[in-house]
Amino acid sequence: MSARSQPISVVTGAAGFLGSHLTDRLLAQDHRVIAIDNLITGNAANIGHLAGNENYHFIKHNVSNFIFLPEEKIDYVFHFASPASPIDYLELPIPTLKVGALGTHNALGLAKAKGASFILASTSETYGDPLVHPQKEDYWGNVNPIGPRGVYDEAKRFAEAMTMAYHRYHKIDTKILRIFNTYGPRMRLRDGRVVPAFISQALAGRPLTVFGNGSQTRSFCYVSDLIDGIFKLAMSDFHEPVNLGNPREMTIKQFADEIIRITGTKSTIEYKPLPEDDPKVRQPDISRAKKVLGWEPRVSFEEGITRTIKYFRESLKSD
Ligand code: UDP
Repeated sequence: MSARSQPISVVTGAAGFLGSHLTDRLLAQDHRVIAIDNLITGNAANIGHLAGNENYHFIKHNVSNFIFLPEEKIDYVFHFASPASPIDYLELPIPTLKVGALGTHNALGLAKAKGASFILASTSETYGDPLVHPQKEDYWGNVNPIGPRGVYDEAKRFAEAMTMAYHRYHKIDTKILRIFNTYGPRMRLRDGRVVPAFISQALAGRPLTVFGNGSQTRSFCYVSDLIDGIFKLAMSDFHEPVNLGNPREMTIKQFADEIIRITGTKSTIEYKPLPEDDPKVRQPDISRAKKVLGWEPRVSFEEGITRTIKYFRESLKSD
């Protein structure tokens, strides 16, 4: 591809779990990628393999501050920067609010200045503890603004509002994806989310810490499926939010049992208090993604979780 026609993408949060997989996909599609991350929850190990790639440029920067880039024209701005694990946003409440609010404003400003399309990584957390099940994009949600998760939920809801304002007022080409629980290689071992928590506990032979009585549900999507959906949405001309996730729903107790079975561990289950405002159910209705993008997940739970366990086994060796 000639340098002139080569698309240029900016990815914020590019050293994170999703940002780094998205970067790999964009590079595989012959994009030039300008990767930005302040590494507060991102991990340099996720991008080590990109060192020396002439289409890749990394900038260590906090996007809650003004983003200056010398390029005259950029094609896509993917705004993926944010702490994303409940433990992280409890420890980093103000940076979480700032990156959802100020970071989104800066990333939108960058897209506007450079004539780029803007893609917002939003979340199923915009539905809060949902009273509608499964969740469809036209559900407005049930969020506690002042609870411990409010810093993330409300920041992302603000980010969606800001994105639509730039779309309507400034006529920016924008996309909003609502990401449901996603897992796979490059999640941090100790990020506190249930997938790395249970797998690392199982591999160490420690008890699996089920919060509450384990009857709360989640629906887990393998990362390659999600990245496929993100790429399709970015290339589409659809501006309303789109749920991306795997509708295969299970309780957290069932999930713990599956991890015990697949790893073959002797670990037991230990029940711990349920965190405040922990959503009781979560399952994406993906009919919009199917219709608009022709997208649906392909990787089975067994296959995705086996690949993820292999990754964590290897990371624990070098830990
Ligand atoms: N969870 C659990 N044990 C853990 C970590 C999480 O039982 O060690 C539960 C948590 O209470 C929630 C679900 O697993 O109901 C998913 O939690 P996660 O932190 O992965 O993200 P969430 O879906 O809540 O944003």
